[in-house]
Amino acid sequence: MKSRREFISNLALGSSAILLPDTLLKYKQDKLGVAMLGLGNYATNHLAPALKETINCHLTAIVTGTPSKVPEWKEKYSLTDDHIYSYESFDEIAKDDTVDIVYVVTPNALHHEFVIRAARAGKHVICEKPMEISADRCKEMIAACEEAGVKLQIGYRCQYDPTHKRFMEIGQKQELGQITVIETGLSFYGVNSKNWRFTDAALSGGGPMMDIGVYCIQGCRYATGKDPIRVTAQTFKKFKDKLPGMEESITWQFTFDDDSIANCTSSYVGRHDAIRVSTENGWYGMEPAYGYAMPHLTINGEKQPVHQHNQKATQMDAFALNIINDTKVIADGVMGWKDMIIIESIFKAAKTGEPVEIHY
Ligand code: NAD
Repeated sequence: MKSRREFISNLALGSSAILLPDTLLKYKQDKLGVAMLGLGNYATNHLAPALKETINCHLTAIVTGTPSKVPEWKEKYSLTDDHIYSYESFDEIAKDDTVDIVYVVTPNALHHEFVIRAARAGKHVICEKPMEISADRCKEMIAACEEAGVKLQIGYRCQYDPTHKRFMEIGQKQELGQITVIETGLSFYGVNSKNWRFTDAALSGGGPMMDIGVYCIQGCRYATGKDPIRVTAQTFKKFKDKLPGMEESITWQFTFDDDSIANCTSSYVGRHDAIRVSTENGWYGMEPAYGYAMPHLTINGEKQPVHQHNQKATQMDAFALNIINDTKVIADGVMGWKDMIIIESIFKAAKTGEPVEIHY
């Protein structure tokens, strides 16, 4: 009997042709194992519950720095001690046959370390957004995954959402003519929170730009199917004793190579979640757009039906299928790295007050 790991590496090596079709089918009906690393809010309240709804993968292990969290996870997800890891023992996961994917859900500046360690342990990796806190660190993560021959997905759940996909299609196929202006924002009132996002710039890499502004960058990129070529930006602060070393609100303006523009805002004192695209012949947009509420698309004033599903389950299932079928990951490392180049350009533009040409 081949182990699951041998089976996967054989598939990757192209030896699946020697397998009987029914064996292959059986394998494809099997679920890939996911190890959750960093058991904070998103992992506990969103991703792990979503893994109960996934078709192609399920939770088989956890990695945590907080032993007191273990009993509840063990009970809730029927995990045994041999699939529980600390950050120190994490590398031993290489020998754990039940784990195919490691999902890194730590603060931003720790993604680099854990993605690289997961890749070196021979596991495919999902890394939460933002990919890291600098483009150079993202490049190293991509290189480590390539070197280890494992796939890397960034946790951009909207990339897999049917409403966002329809939104992408309208713009990229120019169904309402050429895009002229994009207006988008993602903000929430988080300024008083004590979480690392709002208190530890070394871990977060910045304020709302890193945490939620990245969704607006994504929205502009997939509305147009283009990468912005130039940016101007401004930061603001109302509560000066909060958010040490980070911006409170940031606005930025993209120019694309066809002279279409985007005006974007992200703030920890705002309350907003929307994107609106003006075109030669009309307009369309989503509100809500990026948050946990299901996105709602409007085209020329007509509200479209809401597509109810679990975005996180859809995203993880898509990655599991990429592994099983050896297909290209949509939200791959290069996408995350480009977003980080854009973020660095936005911060530079805000600091200098000058337009910045974005070089990828
Ligand atoms: P959180 O603070 O709730 O959880 C972070 C986890 O990392 C905790 O379990 C904490 O114990 C652990 N950790 C390990 N080392 C740490 C350290 N040195 N300092 C602080 N915590 C440490 O954060 P979260 O909201 O779960 O966010 C985690 C990641 O997930 C972030 O990168 C965030 O951007 C991303 N996220 C993505 C989405 C999405 O919709 N895709 C939503 C929320 C969060």
